Amino acid sequence: MIAKLEDLGDVRGKTVLVRTDFNVPMSGPDDDRIIVDDFRIRSALETLNWLTSRGANVVCATHLGRPKGKKVAKYSIAPVRKRLAELAPSVLLLENLRFNEGEEGNDPNFVAKLVDGVDIYVNDAFGAAHRSHASIVGPPKTLPSAAGRLLHRELEVLTELRSNPKRPFVAVLGGSKVSDKLGVIQALMKVVDQLIIGGGMCFSFLAAKNLPIGDSLCELDQLDACRQLLSGDVPIHLPEDIVGLNKSGEFATFGVRLPDGAKGLDIGPGSAAAFADIIMNACSVFWNGPMGMFEDERFAAGTRTVAQAMADTKAFTVVGGGDSAAALAQFRLDKEVDHVSTGGGASLEFLQLGDLPGLVALRGAPNVK
Ligand code: AMP
Repeated sequence: MIAKLEDLGDVRGKTVLVRTDFNVPMSGPDDDRIIVDDFRIRSALETLNWLTSRGANVVCATHLGRPKGKKVAKYSIAPVRKRLAELAPSVLLLENLRFNEGEEGNDPNFVAKLVDGVDIYVNDAFGAAHRSHASIVGPPKTLPSAAGRLLHRELEVLTELRSNPKRPFVAVLGGSKVSDKLGVIQALMKVVDQLIIGGGMCFSFLAAKNLPIGDSLCELDQLDACRQLLSGDVPIHLPEDIVGLNKSGEFATFGVRLPDGAKGLDIGPGSAAAFADIIMNACSVFWNGPMGMFEDERFAAGTRTVAQAMADTKAFTVVGGGDSAAALAQFRLDKEVDHVSTGGGASLEFLQLGDLPGLVALRGAPNVK
């Protein structure tokens, strides 16, 4: 069992360490960074307000970027602290956890520092729950612990999808590499009724079917794995037309066979319509990874059509973080799906393995054992 906030008993006067995921996108010069999107900070407010309104003294801790154990001005927590002070004035925020190499190294001395003077630990950082880092797995060893609201909601949604999905259940996968997602594709094949594959990774599947793919992204060492997946029981839908650049670098639409020198950068309009149709007829859909290089408007149409179908379908729709969440936000459709996971890597790992180090740690906390 994983404890919820309600299971913590009276929190009045207690000091509560909340592990949040405030790894927000930033821009600007290294010593004057500006937060581009404060969604992750606002998402934590439900948990923070629950605790402060009951009289707890709340201290948050988060990682920000990848400073690799060193103090780096670019990743200073100061801009996040300023925004948090506006949204939740009584809540404190520690310096970027990853400034200390003990965080990623899961050093017991760093854990001891984190829990010093703390009475209760709350994990609300789903996006970091797949990491065995000090602030994720350390505090629940000694402190009464619980999952925050965000983490709890993520778990409910992903557990339902993994073990009791409404059928037909369709997974839509994209993004650049097969190798990154092979484990999750294999795991999804056990639970989904149909799989749609677009994005850069579709070219390894097309190449595995001996179709010419020109200069498109391809992982030659993954072709056997792709062939094996294609010969499984679950239907895999691949694009039947492709949009990209011809060998002179001009925008072009191709069939499923790409000429020499051509580069596929998005699924074509026919494939996008076919994929949208499958999504419209599904009862549950999980989507992770863009259908093309959507950051370039010329190659955003396939991802936009899939995003619109996610918004329009009556199916229960879950989007697994990262680039697909960014794409949804770019098309202003993020409010139109049932659940946008705050963790790309964590949601994939949970669907694959059914558990995460951060959850194991919460289950082993002294108030639960
Ligand atoms: P990933 O990080 O693996 O989820 O991949 C996301 C990235 O893949 C995005 O930045 C897309 O621009 C890129 N991408 C998607 N489709 C293609 C493609 N056909 N060729 C090259 N890059 C792609």
